[in-house]
Amino acid sequence: GKGAAMVTAVAYRLAEQSRHIAETLAEFRLTTEQLLEVRKDATVKMLPTFVRSTPDGSEHGDFLALDLGGTNFRVLLVKIRSGKRRTVEMHNKIYAIPLEVMQGTGEELFDHIVQCISDFLDYMGMKNARLPLGFTFSFPCRQTSLDAGILVTWTKGFKATDCEGEDVVGLLREAIKRREFDLDVVAIVNDTVGTMMTCAYEESTCEIGLIAGTGSNACYMEEMKNIEMIDDDEGRMCVNMEWGAFGDNGCLDDIRTEYDRAVDDFSLNPGKQRYEKMCSGMYLGEIVRNILIDMTKRGFLFRGQISETLKTRGIFETKFLSQIESDRLALLQVRSILQHLGLDSTCDDSIIVKEVCGAVSRRAAQLCGAGMAAVVDKIRENRGLDRLNVTVGVDGTLYKLHPHFSRIMHQTVNELAPQCNVNFLLSEDGSGKGAALITAVGCRLRQELNG
Ligand code: BGC
Ligand code: MG
Repeated sequence: GKGAAMVTAVAYRLAEQSRHIAETLAEFRLTTEQLLEVRKDATVKMLPTFVRSTPDGSEHGDFLALDLGGTNFRVLLVKIRSGKRRTVEMHNKIYAIPLEVMQGTGEELFDHIVQCISDFLDYMGMKNARLPLGFTFSFPCRQTSLDAGILVTWTKGFKATDCEGEDVVGLLREAIKRREFDLDVVAIVNDTVGTMMTCAYEESTCEIGLIAGTGSNACYMEEMKNIEMIDDDEGRMCVNMEWGAFGDNGCLDDIRTEYDRAVDDFSLNPGKQRYEKMCSGMYLGEIVRNILIDMTKRGFLFRGQISETLKTRGIFETKFLSQIESDRLALLQVRSILQHLGLDSTCDDSIIVKEVCGAVSRRAAQLCGAGMAAVVDKIRENRGLDRLNVTVGVDGTLYKLHPHFSRIMHQTVNELAPQCNVNFLLSEDGSGKGAALITAVGCRLRQELNG
């Protein structure tokens, strides 16, 4: 009768639902062959950084550092003491950068930065100190020296006008002049390089820096003779790979899903940073959101109701993904996180959301691992070694906050680069400390040059 027909309809619907969910998530499962392919295609860009050696412990002095381009904008005072008892003391303050400043004019952005420095100096009671400054600027730059770098393109959430193609240190110096005060900008530093330097200060085998945070990128010590943009062939220099741009030539197209394409299409930089958009904190939540919208449209989730919240870009920040995927969390708590985000879920909904998050973050960790496998193997080959022992300095919210990302990434590196023993070292405040260490080296070199 009618009852039986309804039971059949419900059963059919449930089967359809689980089939659809399984099929969707299967697109995010990568085979070892696919990961090896990514490792192989991961052609390394080599932007010179003019950092020629890791710290030797003789670095010394008081420095200012700026950290722009991660989760927070910060101004820091870093005091480095050398000698028997090396110490690094840091003071820092976080400043907000309003969206209209991130995406306004370059002049507004740099005026805002200088305003924050000025506030910080007031706050520290050192208004008139003229300290050497290291600028951690976490975007692709073509450096021609330690203190000159032309912004290739904005990434992540930034899009200020009149900056691309310009020397960022020049833009900062002009803004400093406009405020009529004096600062000595010594170095521009990519966050990966700062992270590598910070870890290398503690651990001399650290020759790689990795950021798995808002964005994704790596740097490593390359043989000078392999760096085309520099004539000198002696020794090594740290190169910034800007690996977030992998796949911009189409080589990842086979594994990109319709959700990846949607995230890319609606981003500030469509077609660019395709690898970064599959594996960094700024975009993982967006991939999840796109999948959830699709499942809801099909009536498999949230009772088929697409809420305003679900339509809101950027709701699933790294910290929420991390909470949802935490093993210690009961489903009831997952539901309360979703509730907190404004999403009314049933128990079944929360199970599905957690599965979706898991599939997306797992793929991210594996892709990041495949990239890292390419780097360590490159270093091993450079040195003609059968085995390489190397340490990677790591920073970034995704790596630090997510309950599974780091483990899966490590496993993937081990599987894909079996001839390397790779040790990962979490950097404590890599951007700030690293910028100061590089600035210290810059000051030393400058003194040597001037006799
Ligand atoms: C930038 C890199 C940076 C990375 C991590 C990317 O979007 O292009 O320069 O190192 O994010 O912050
Ligand atoms: Mg950072």
